[in-house]
Amino acid sequence: MKVLVTGGAGYIGSITVEQLIKGGEEVVVFDNLYQGHRDAVHPDAAFVQGDLKDRAAIDAALAAHKPDAIMHFASYTLVGESMQHPFMYLGDNITNGLNLLQSAHEHGVKKFILSSTANLFDKPERMPIDENERIVPGSPYGESKNILERMLYWLDVTQGMRYACLRYFNACGASEERGEDHTPETHIIPLILQVALGQRADFAIFGDDYPTPDGTCVRDYVHVVDLAQAHILALRALDDGSRTYNLGSGRGFSVKEVIDMAREVTGRPIPTRVVARRPGDPAVLVASSDKIRRELGWAPKYPDLRTIMEMAWNWHLSNPTGYAK
Ligand code: UDP
Repeated sequence: MKVLVTGGAGYIGSITVEQLIKGGEEVVVFDNLYQGHRDAVHPDAAFVQGDLKDRAAIDAALAAHKPDAIMHFASYTLVGESMQHPFMYLGDNITNGLNLLQSAHEHGVKKFILSSTANLFDKPERMPIDENERIVPGSPYGESKNILERMLYWLDVTQGMRYACLRYFNACGASEERGEDHTPETHIIPLILQVALGQRADFAIFGDDYPTPDGTCVRDYVHVVDLAQAHILALRALDDGSRTYNLGSGRGFSVKEVIDMAREVTGRPIPTRVVARRPGDPAVLVASSDKIRRELGWAPKYPDLRTIMEMAWNWHLSNPTGYAK
């Protein structure tokens, strides 16, 4: 199968490309390199530098490469940023996704995998959160993904587009060759590891007065290679119909527990300080991934936080300044 991967130079996208190629698929990456890195793109993938704002560029890529399926990772992805700059999310994330869907429709691409998010669940009534939980987006970011999920629903009903919405909880870890490198970095594990490397003085804990056992937020950390595998399983299952899955490990760790694990794995002290809560952060988010385990046999290979941290640390030690800029 030939798969066009938007955002294939980014963190989750590049590792999914790597896993697709290992699995024998042909891949075309479409990325504007806004956050992505050319060096993160697997050498066996074709690369198109293009922007989803540009319908003609998408049309040209689809006409030239004729993919069977699209995986859409390219997006602004930060809850906090979306609270400050809502139109990047309510505007660009949605119109770029719409451009891609219209192009896919016009070029007869009938399989589509959307990167979605746990930020759909701001007021969960049950924990862990399964696919029946009420959708309450926690931010313009979550809302942008909700709207794209709804578009896919209607394209399936009206046009026979087969889609999978994959709602990631906290993607983390690294493969041997690819890891997490954002500018600016805002994610917990790379930030903590930058402190361990001596590149930052300390790690700022966003609030320790949440209603959780140690007062810090609890999240479900899922290994990026396991997420990549979920995409591949979902892609292969699309002939049997569209589907939506929550993807996590089913276990929650507090911010303080993540810091303690990083101290153990790195053997470095990692100073911290407590600062104000970050707007848009719910206290606890833990996924139930029973549905994808049951329906597709997804079985995370790296379910424990120690392994995730070790693999992330190995990548940061080998690439202390990330990818070449
Ligand atoms: N976090 C923190 N300090 C930071 C960055 C993150 O305390 O500098 C916390 C954040 O409040 C959340 C967890 O770490 O509870 C994971 O945040 P991240 O931004 O990595 O992922 P998100 O949950 O936003 O997808």
